[in-house]
Amino acid sequence: MINKKISLLEFTKKELDDFLTKNLNQKSYRTKQIFNWIYKNKTDDFEKFKNLPLEIRKILKEKFKIYSFELEKKDVSKIDKTIRYNFKTDDSSIIPTVFIPKVSRNVVCISTQIGCSIGCSFCNSGKFKYKRNLNCSEIVEQVLRIEKDVGKINGVLFMGMGEPLLNFENLVKSIKIFVDDDAFCISKRKITVSTSGIVPNIYKLLEKNLQIKLAVSIHSYNDEKRKKVVKNLNFTVEEILKAAIYYAKNTKTKLTIEYVMIKNFNDKEEDALGISKILKFLTKNKKELIKINIIPYNLVEKSKEFIAPEKENVENFKNILIKEGFLTFIRKPYGTDINAACGQLGLF
Ligand code: SAH
Ligand code: SF4
Repeated sequence: MINKKISLLEFTKKELDDFLTKNLNQKSYRTKQIFNWIYKNKTDDFEKFKNLPLEIRKILKEKFKIYSFELEKKDVSKIDKTIRYNFKTDDSSIIPTVFIPKVSRNVVCISTQIGCSIGCSFCNSGKFKYKRNLNCSEIVEQVLRIEKDVGKINGVLFMGMGEPLLNFENLVKSIKIFVDDDAFCISKRKITVSTSGIVPNIYKLLEKNLQIKLAVSIHSYNDEKRKKVVKNLNFTVEEILKAAIYYAKNTKTKLTIEYVMIKNFNDKEEDALGISKILKFLTKNKKELIKINIIPYNLVEKSKEFIAPEKENVENFKNILIKEGFLTFIRKPYGTDINAACGQLGLF
């Protein structure tokens, strides 16, 4: 039977405050108490909310729930201790989430949709039929459950399954909860939203003034070439970069350019020089605004259509961009043995 109770993870602190003060005639400090029980003590048992009056506990118990997921599967990588969780939702969809134990901090890579409508041909999430947006509570529960399992989370990457900027309202709400001192208390600059380039929503995100970081998946300076792999998106590379650079300038953050590198597709010197040229032009040569992350293609299926680039080509490409003056890194893949790396989350 589907549980009709509303999850308390749907509420930002302001929303819960409004609800408690207006509907239940409670004082504001109750909101903080409830947030503490949920996010600091991580309990989903309303009986344990001892500092709340009995009648409030009763209402909470009747109308609300906290957790909704069942843990369908949990795999730990033998290579690097990355953990992939498959959470099962009320409607039996599977949400993949990845925990990355970095040396300096604990990071979670979260999903925002079931499937993805952008349909990039190198990404398994794109091949997976789009079903729906995740609710705010489903975005938040991914981090809450993992924090409960492994300990304090210090960074969130919106780089899992789905296009975050196509689930805009829930993205914004969940970020408000991630940064809230009484919830996860994650630093704004440790949250990154990665987008394939939904241009109007990049500007809308700036208006929300959340001060988090942005990453754009570019893959090529050339529109025709990009269109061959990023199928269902009608914005040009220039429009996307303009919006993203505007975002970076106005938030005083560095913009990450993600570049999935595929052998014999976008791994040549002219591809690197093309990217450099357009970035120099659009930043008016302010290269310090940019960080480039080269992501060598991760295998997502047995098809011969895409092949990972040679190590030497990736290094050459990186060195060209560094010589051009850009801070450039090669993104290390995490959890390739458990289908936890970029592009692999739609593999079950
Ligand atoms: N939809 C958003 C965020 C999720 S994808 C976006 O596209 O940005 C996160 C990153 O994984 C993107 O940069 C995407 O290009 C990259 N990616 C997808 N499939 C990949 C693959 N097979 N190998 C390497 N990176 C991949
Ligand atoms: Fe969607 Fe991003 Fe995968 Fe493209 S790369 S299909 S936008 S999740």
